[in-house]
Amino acid sequence: MQKPVTHDQRLREARGETRATADRLYDRTRRRTDPHLKRAATIRGSARWKSLRAKKRRHNPLCEDHEARGKTVVATGVDHVKALEMLPHLAYVWSNLKSLCDPCHAKMSAAERRG
Ligand SMILES: [Zn+2]
Repeated sequence: MQKPVTHDQRLREARGETRATADRLYDRTRRRTDPHLKRAATIRGSARWKSLRAKKRRHNPLCEDHEARGKTVVATGVDHVKALEMLPHLAYVWSNLKSLCDPCHAKMSAAERRG
């Protein structure tokens, strides 16, 4: 038996889009229209954040999650422990920042998306 095709799937096929393209498009549209995401993007692009992030990385150059497990891995970014999208007033609070390597950052972000 054939699986029923949704209206969205038919639309995507008609436009020659894959599911990934559709998701990317959705994300981009959401980033532009969702006020929480818009505010977070503004903060991430601000000089104040960039300078604080640089300071944090100078202070904690190693991935803090790996460090907690006794491993030494160079951090590649700074994460907001409490999600920036939800709690923007904690954007510049030192104790809300964590230096992380790429894999640990990806894990955190995925967990945040799942809620
Ligand atoms: Zn790590």
